[in-house]
Amino acid sequence: MNNCHLLEISFDYNGQKQVITPVILQDENETILVDCGYPDFVTFLKDAAFSKGVNLDSITKIIITHHDMDHIGSLAALKREYPQIEIISYEFEAPYIEGVEKSLRLQQAESTLDELPGEEKENARQFIHFLKSIEPAKVDRTVSDNEELPWCGGIKILHTPGHMPGHISLYLPASKTLIAGDAVVIETGKLEIANPQFTFDMEAALSSVQLLLDYDIKNLICYHGGLFQGNVKEALIELVHSYRSKSSSVKEKAMQIRQLDNHKQAPLDLLLLADPSQQLVEEYIKRGKCFAAYSGENVVGVYVLLPTRPDTIELVNVAVAVDHQGKGIGKQLVNHAVRQAQLLGFKTIEVGTGNSSVAQLALYQKCGFRITGVDKDFFIRHYTEEIFENGMQVVDMIRLSQDL
Ligand SMILES: [Zn+2]
Repeated sequence: MNNCHLLEISFDYNGQKQVITPVILQDENETILVDCGYPDFVTFLKDAAFSKGVNLDSITKIIITHHDMDHIGSLAALKREYPQIEIISYEFEAPYIEGVEKSLRLQQAESTLDELPGEEKENARQFIHFLKSIEPAKVDRTVSDNEELPWCGGIKILHTPGHMPGHISLYLPASKTLIAGDAVVIETGKLEIANPQFTFDMEAALSSVQLLLDYDIKNLICYHGGLFQGNVKEALIELVHSYRSKSSSVKEKAMQIRQLDNHKQAPLDLLLLADPSQQLVEEYIKRGKCFAAYSGENVVGVYVLLPTRPDTIELVNVAVAVDHQGKGIGKQLVNHAVRQAQLLGFKTIEVGTGNSSVAQLALYQKCGFRITGVDKDFFIRHYTEEIFENGMQVVDMIRLSQDL
């Protein structure tokens, strides 16, 4: 860890002592800062760097793990003071850092505002005001999952979504160091999931922790908590177990949604629940991306995404196993599909369903889809047998779509 400096910055936040740990990586040519604190933290950063023998004037790059305000707050100010800095983020994060897209944290805060009781509402309003004040900054270079950057002995980018969909962690193979960002935090000496109530996708967050188990990590650096003391692997396993047992205790066994490597693994029986034409199903699973939801070893749901036109992808099949229906799995699958489409860079996601599929029509609209049209007699033209559902014949296809 010779070239890796932990900048522990203590400060007062709303009357409470807080500590954050940005990191500086250095080699002969590069001085790279990973995350940069709240707004107005430039002096803190300079002082903390100075105490480690690093002059912040030599800074060449900033890598951002995700666009929360405590990670990008001083980004624009740093760029103004040091225009040579190259700002680097995961591709999915760039529009949020640049202010082209509204911050996901801001969207989240705004969407829950109405449900809050009086006093909390006022705090939430102040939080929203604060989030709106974060100054955007232009991202100079985007990185992708598993990309290896040549600086400072090598930096491998790991996409670790959950806390935010575009969250990344940095693995430094030479020193077996993981800069975790907010993929995990340290609380009273133990590893934890950062702010579970604000985590966008808990399942993804746990899968990300599980992914970290594939790496030999000697030094684990958390943005909130600093350097972890103890056996990293054991602590990561314990963290996953604590959540898995928590969720099974409320009888909702933790579900994991994973992309299948090969269309031959696709659960045909489930896919045929949503689409009775075996020929059509077999045809589109070969061309599309198939995701399955697992509860333990059991496949409990599936969906298929199929690119149809430039920038457009279609959700061509969503199915939940009969004995697992009514538990919200369909909604998780649709939301997961929308996020995947976004991550894959598509601009529009479409879906079509039968005129009789009342529950599906409600579900898609709850997940943000809008009806765009009716393909009359679609099921008569494309299916040899008559199909009935909810006491109605399925004849027309209702088309829905959503901008990403
Ligand atoms: Zn944070």
